[in-house]
Amino acid sequence: MTRKRDKKPSFEPGCVPAPGGLLDWRDSQHYDHWQMHPCALCEQPTPLRSHAGGPAHKACAESWIAANPTEARLGRFASDTQPKRRRDDNHA
Ligand SMILES: [Zn+2]
Repeated sequence: MTRKRDKKPSFEPGCVPAPGGLLDWRDSQHYDHWQMHPCALCEQPTPLRSHAGGPAHKACAESWIAANPTEARLGRFASDTQPKRRRDDNHA
């Protein structure tokens, strides 16, 4: 097997929000500065991308999760991974 070398660090999805919850798409990799593509859900142009790179509005993805809670758990749309924080930040 050959491993493709990517200059970008891998863009891994984190948790899938609960139905009705909000996605955390703060990472700039969710935003395509160059092209609008039709959203996979509402077909209106969007610069937003899911972790898999598919165009989708964040709000559309959130409603899709609410409407398809079972399928949503497969991870089609997920929040960003939370950066690991030091647990002993306020260690005296
Ligand atoms: Zn949409």
